[in-house]
Amino acid sequence: MYDIIGDIHSCHDEFIELLIKLGYLWIPNRFSMFHPDKRKVVLVGDITDRGWHPASVFQFVENMIEDGNLLMVKGNHDDKLQRYAKGNNVKLLHGLDLTVERMEQAGISNERIFNFCNKLPHFLVLDGGKLIVVHAAWKDKYIDEDPFGKRVRSWCIFGPIAGQSASGMPNRIDWAKDRINKTPIVVHGHQPIREVRCINGVWNIDTGCAFGGALTALGYPEMDIISINAKQVYCQREGRWGYGEET
Ligand code: MN
Repeated sequence: MYDIIGDIHSCHDEFIELLIKLGYLWIPNRFSMFHPDKRKVVLVGDITDRGWHPASVFQFVENMIEDGNLLMVKGNHDDKLQRYAKGNNVKLLHGLDLTVERMEQAGISNERIFNFCNKLPHFLVLDGGKLIVVHAAWKDKYIDEDPFGKRVRSWCIFGPIAGQSASGMPNRIDWAKDRINKTPIVVHGHQPIREVRCINGVWNIDTGCAFGGALTALGYPEMDIISINAKQVYCQREGRWGYGEET
């Protein structure tokens, strides 16, 4: 009933190709798709920056949500875009510069961007509580918290970090390794990995498309994995891949 998709990061072509592979069809005369079996797309957040087509992805996702065929949680890049659109002084780094430029060219106002981002929850509880979708990290005790609340924001969209690496990137803690429960199933993105990983009921499906990896969908409840390889490297990875030593 759901196709959960990893960090898109402006990779419009791979996103559309993935949806076609999953059986989604175009709605006539509209930049939006639907599934004949009424499946819904669920995004783990981070739809813009890094890649080259942020405005197309934004418009497509906006339409899909409006049509009731897509749900999405907020990622750290969506949060930063929201703060930019609000008028906050944010640094135009990590691809946000191109996002802002393309949004302006496409005539997408800051008000429209803000309203879009402001409606995104920090986590989604689906299938009667059997499935959690979140951008970066999850705590099982959050299930009764307000998904839009401040209490869950930092953990859900940035996850736990421990200082910085020598290159100045945050050291992300492998929180899923220490999870005691195996349920509900948790699906997230945020940390690029070479292959989808499932540990303690936690699935990381961010296979780093913008960095030349792949865009991955996890079908729920089937738990099957379908990927589209990146057409090229859109952005050089500064931090590490996965949870090991590889940088
Ligand atoms: Mn990301």
